[in-house]
Amino acid sequence: MKISPSVVQKSKALLANAQHIVITNHISPDGDAMGSALGLQSILNDAGIVSKVIVPNAYPDFLHWMEGHEAVLCYEGNEEEADRIIAKADLIFHLDYNSLKRSGTMANALLASQANRIMIDHHQEPEDFVDVMISDSAMSSTCEMIYHFAKAIGMEAHITTEAANCLYTGIITDTGNFRFSGTTPQTHMVAAKLLEIGVKPHEIAGLVYDTNSENRLALLGRTLDKMEVLHNLNTAIMHLNQEDLAEFDFQKGDTEGFVNYGLSLHGIKLSVFIADKDGKVKMSFRSKGNFDVNKLARVHFNGGGHKNAAGALSSQNLEDTLSTLKKVLVDYADELQKN
Ligand code: 5GP
Ligand code: MN
Repeated sequence: MKISPSVVQKSKALLANAQHIVITNHISPDGDAMGSALGLQSILNDAGIVSKVIVPNAYPDFLHWMEGHEAVLCYEGNEEEADRIIAKADLIFHLDYNSLKRSGTMANALLASQANRIMIDHHQEPEDFVDVMISDSAMSSTCEMIYHFAKAIGMEAHITTEAANCLYTGIITDTGNFRFSGTTPQTHMVAAKLLEIGVKPHEIAGLVYDTNSENRLALLGRTLDKMEVLHNLNTAIMHLNQEDLAEFDFQKGDTEGFVNYGLSLHGIKLSVFIADKDGKVKMSFRSKGNFDVNKLARVHFNGGGHKNAAGALSSQNLEDTLSTLKKVLVDYADELQKN
């Protein structure tokens, strides 16, 4: 990733002049969102620069081991305190999101802020609401970008093991352990650097992946049991209703990654996972090859993401979402049947 000299200069100047730095990420923060926010904070900290991480809402337990977790401020439930900090900020980082609406209920406070803004993100079609935009949809993850950013602004030496652990987490979670198409030689080179700094891959894998509760595995069983395969469309659809989630005592993060099981079926090009979480119908799309789920999510469900991984919040109930999806997919039959 190339960061132009003028962007480097501007970023350095903004950092040097800032007194109150806030680092934010997207709603329902995932491994890359938290890894990039806490990784950047840790790097800045080591360089003697203080910052505050504010996230839109809670994030899963399997990310709570990261350095800085204890001090993270969750916007939901702490609106007054967060609004005060955001209003006072003179520099805001927008990490792992490309549009203010992705910051959830925090969007208004962010919009009202007079602070300078730096976006570091790898989603397609970023909205230009920032002073410095570092956006590259060819990047595997925002965490990979934070490594390049730190290096570009002369802070590579401040990437401690703790920061490296955060960045490595975002890289493995956003690439599906170096499996997805966004994985490049450069991704592996950055990962190698992080290992040289001190990351122990088996330890991070244990912290991130080997934390299943029995309920979560049982919920996965239910999901797979209910999976519908549309053979003529090379599509797998999975869905959970509120009763399913309640039966297995759903906890935030429990359904993370379920959508990938559909894609592991031989010949499947599109996998959709839909969960009715207290009336919020959340959709996850994953695809292989040229089938563009960013487009599918944007055009039909007001969502977005990347070409092979996207999401949306449906405006319909679960049943109607399912039938809309099946209707819409018929129009993509040619694309889904292509090799
Ligand atoms: P996931 O299915 O893991 O929630 O999301 C997959 C990808 O799509 C992520 O990169 C995420 O940032 C993006 N994404 C998820 N939900 C939404 C949404 O409602 N709107 C948009 N624009 N992007 C989303
Ligand atoms: Mn990401």
